[in-house]
Amino acid sequence: MFASDLEGETALRAGLRDAGRVVVKFGSALLTSPGTGLEHARIRSLVDDIHELLDAGHQVVVVSSGAVAEGCVRLGLDRRPDAVSDLQAAAAVGQVGLMAIYEQLFVARGRHAAMVLLTHDDFAHRERYLNARATLNRLVSAGVVPVINENDTVATDEIRFGDNDTLAGLVSNVVEADVLVLLTDADGLYTADPRQQQDAPMVNFAAANDRQLDAMAGPGGAFGRGGMVTKLAAARLAADGGAHTLIAPGRLERVISRLLAGERIGTLLAATVAPRDARKRWIAGLRKSKGCLVLDAGAVSALQQGGRSLLCVGVRRVVGQFQRGDVVRFEDENGQAVGQGLVNYTSAEADRLIGVPTAGIASVLGYVNEPELVHRDNLVVYR
Ligand code: GLU
Repeated sequence: MFASDLEGETALRAGLRDAGRVVVKFGSALLTSPGTGLEHARIRSLVDDIHELLDAGHQVVVVSSGAVAEGCVRLGLDRRPDAVSDLQAAAAVGQVGLMAIYEQLFVARGRHAAMVLLTHDDFAHRERYLNARATLNRLVSAGVVPVINENDTVATDEIRFGDNDTLAGLVSNVVEADVLVLLTDADGLYTADPRQQQDAPMVNFAAANDRQLDAMAGPGGAFGRGGMVTKLAAARLAADGGAHTLIAPGRLERVISRLLAGERIGTLLAATVAPRDARKRWIAGLRKSKGCLVLDAGAVSALQQGGRSLLCVGVRRVVGQFQRGDVVRFEDENGQAVGQGLVNYTSAEADRLIGVPTAGIASVLGYVNEPELVHRDNLVVYR
């Protein structure tokens, strides 16, 4: 059912060689072996591949796991601990070893790696987001390769669920990547769990937002935290910002260079929207919304077809508590997600403004923050 658009796939894969900015994510299962920690030879060949990409003119940002696994070895733990604080401690110890290898391998070819530790919250605060964005842009334009990991000391999202898959999706938005490459120990995304159904075919190509994919992404593998569920979620985050995602086997020689040369390897999950400007990408990447605005059909079509701002008159219900500037989701009356944006009024104000025409805001509140509830520059609409 996904193999039908061979022409579309071929064209898209051929276009990958023009990708400017590429985010490459390495999972723990790829970089480490149970009991012995980081696999130096594997990391060396991946970094060689990145050097090749950089020499060809691509800009590369790395998202790397492996700190927890390496830290466990360094601390003499014979298995992954259960307590989150133990995992966080292991991450802190292991991160040192992880960066030491990257730095050594990049310096050997006259380049530098930079350690960047981020949390999901950094993407939800406008100021921190802008700081991270500015730093990463500066590093990349200076020819430095940022190596990003979750800041496991203060955050546990990826330790618990994702093994940096989600982080990689968010990073793709921040750096305005054209392509996100998720390297893993599997060949790609299969239509069923290949450990249970050996002849399950692999998906070569699909739209990232294709709902049929949901049923295929089984729960996480034995190693690392990330299964295909989080990879699919990362691909969708990346697609929100206009980036295509490749899920491919990290053990294949020169796999990243070959992918970007258009070779048919792994799964390509295509973004169906054109790349948006940076602000829109950031808004699309924000995940921790504070509330929801339920919209009437007129408002939904004004957003979807007209590219308009969201006005109070089109709001039917206000759910949750939020402040001015917070991210709120938009839903239609059937509970379907329509989009999200930065709201100009608090939830208490918005509640009083339900169904109020713009000209009536002053008489209801006694003041006007802005004529729109959410300005069109500050919202994204899902399609
Ligand atoms: N950020 C973690 C790491 O680098 C995630 C992987 C895990 O939880 O094992 O190790």
